[in-house]
Amino acid sequence: MQTIKPYVYFNKEIVPKEQATVGIASHSLQYGSTCFGGVRGYWKDGEVRVFRLKDHWERLMDSSRTLEFGYHIPFEQFETVISELIERNQIDSNIYLRPFLFTRHEKLAPRFEGLEFDLGIYILEFGDYFDPSRGLKLKISNWRKISDAAMPTKAKAGGCYVNSSLAANDAVRDGYDDALLMDEQGYIVEASVANIIMVHRGRVVMPDFGSPMLEGITLRTAIDFLKEEGIPVHFERIDRSMIYLADELMVTGTAAMVRSVESVDGRPIRGTAICEMLKKKFDQVLSLEHPKSDEWLYRFSQQTGQSTCR
Ligand code: PMP
Repeated sequence: MQTIKPYVYFNKEIVPKEQATVGIASHSLQYGSTCFGGVRGYWKDGEVRVFRLKDHWERLMDSSRTLEFGYHIPFEQFETVISELIERNQIDSNIYLRPFLFTRHEKLAPRFEGLEFDLGIYILEFGDYFDPSRGLKLKISNWRKISDAAMPTKAKAGGCYVNSSLAANDAVRDGYDDALLMDEQGYIVEASVANIIMVHRGRVVMPDFGSPMLEGITLRTAIDFLKEEGIPVHFERIDRSMIYLADELMVTGTAAMVRSVESVDGRPIRGTAICEMLKKKFDQVLSLEHPKSDEWLYRFSQQTGQSTCR
């Protein structure tokens, strides 16, 4: 279930998706000069609840800054565009919003200087990224995670996802659900489009933010939940043998959500307790039963045409 909705934001206006096209020679198409966000909206009790919209906007603006794209849109304007898109598309299902920055410029040289970047947004009807009925089977990839010395891994740059695609391709072809990527030193960084959290000898451990990973908004949320429960989080290097000895392993991401891992390279991992606790807390947030619900949810009601966002 990944149907693209009929209206998109393109060229500073909302247009039918057929009208949103870029030229064959555009710099973004030829060189992957884009950056993007991925945001979930949940259809619940007659309204769309978009999760941590402001944090996703902030990361998109940070990506633009890191990549020197020179594009900025104030949050209030961004929020208005999202509201209008939700309204025009008459959303009444779970969705995935994809805001991204791109350039139509047809400059041949792979250089950003002098190019004008613009915002595009489309919406997909979206359910589960991974089968929710079982844990994930992961494979440690032969492809290493790109180094931050080569590409800014904290920016969600389109070009970085050639690396994710190669690793995921390889894992899925071999019968796994997804890949785990190691950095150039052999430490485990993240999955193809999700961060990782593990429990090792009773301690919750994750790679530190200085490793070449994306700083996931779902991961930041999970860290808040763990703190709330008084569970200490240890930011450390994780090598392959630690993963094989994990009491519990899970992935976190906007598309993936929080999913437990049942094996890595065919070696079973049995625990699910922390993962279940985190899932329950996410559900509480979405059901407006968590103290952070107000802060984290952008709520759009089709009936009243009103949205609130903090
Ligand atoms: N790492 C990578 C490489 C990703 O693409 C994603 C998905 N955006 C994540 C981690 C998880 O980030 P978030 O929780 O913000 O979706």
